[in-house]
Amino acid sequence: MNKANLLSELQSIYGAKCQVCNGETANTFIHLVPLKVVRYARNLNKRKNRQYKRKLPEIPNYQINNLLPVCAQCQVKQFNLDIYQLLSLQQLKIIDNQRQKHGYPELLTAGNVRRLHKLLANRNNYI
Ligand SMILES: [Zn+2]
Repeated sequence: MNKANLLSELQSIYGAKCQVCNGETANTFIHLVPLKVVRYARNLNKRKNRQYKRKLPEIPNYQINNLLPVCAQCQVKQFNLDIYQLLSLQQLKIIDNQRQKHGYPELLTAGNVRRLHKLLANRNNYI
């Protein structure tokens, strides 16, 4: 994963500005489905001797449609909030507009992080 390449690709999708505060230039990104959730699901699927073999959604750590360009301050803000707590309805709509153009699962369609994870795993449009 090359952070600079990912960031420039994300900016070509969402624009140069931070998608949370809309003031600063985005210089990093956040995971819509948190990285710890992505890793946890993958590790749990690998585990043998599980009583219930329900397969959890699996996506790569840096799947492009799970990332959102933000500024460093907003990256910190996101730490304990999920994306639906962090962003207003209006912001989610603006982001979904761009996601729709790229065939990415939309945030408002998913409605919560768990369903978003599932939708992201069902599509094979990642890099
Ligand atoms: Zn910001």
